[in-house]
Amino acid sequence: MIGVLDLQGDVVEHIDHLERLGISSKRVKKTSDLKGIKGLIIPGGESTCLARLMKLNGIDRAIMELHGQGIKFWGTCAGAIILARNIIGEKSHVPLIDIDIERNGFGSQLDSFATEALIPDVSPQPLTLIFIRAPKIRRCGPGVKVLLAIEDYIAAAEDESILVTAFHPELTPASDFHAYFARKCGLEIKGERRDLPPWSSTSWTRLARVA
Ligand code: GLN
Repeated sequence: MIGVLDLQGDVVEHIDHLERLGISSKRVKKTSDLKGIKGLIIPGGESTCLARLMKLNGIDRAIMELHGQGIKFWGTCAGAIILARNIIGEKSHVPLIDIDIERNGFGSQLDSFATEALIPDVSPQPLTLIFIRAPKIRRCGPGVKVLLAIEDYIAAAEDESILVTAFHPELTPASDFHAYFARKCGLEIKGERRDLPPWSSTSWTRLARVA
């Protein structure tokens, strides 16, 4: 089972992808929800807001304690900022992966964009990458593998227990990153479910109830 931190940001879009792969998921709102999960996705949103909510209910400390006990973490965009050891010019939040990250590295919301890239570790096909007021990973430490570098920044990286992406795979039709993370968590992928309507930019709305 994979948990998705459900405090703020694009939670159901991740759950939609996990469901499509036949991976069971759980919304994580409080520390007791962390029980029994093999991995935790920290979604995109706003890192300052997420960090504040995590601190309020002690999830930040619980994650620090769980780290190194076999559980894996994946931070997308704001989630990557949360997990970075060094946020350039700011205080870090849950400093677990040895990267330097620069918030809003491309500029304002209006500088958001989509592009395509081949990430051979993750998929044999080029993937669509969506950057929304995204950060730039500026440096990876010795134990961190670069999965994708573009121009002057790193867009995806990982260490033994943490995956970080500056972009949003959950906002695209491809489930490759979710499959990659599930395998990192040691989970078996049962294959695309055919009983769900095909992915569309609004297919997650079936999940968008308040839990
Ligand atoms: N700009 C946001 C931050 O600094 C991240 C944006 C996102 O998650 N798409 O937290």
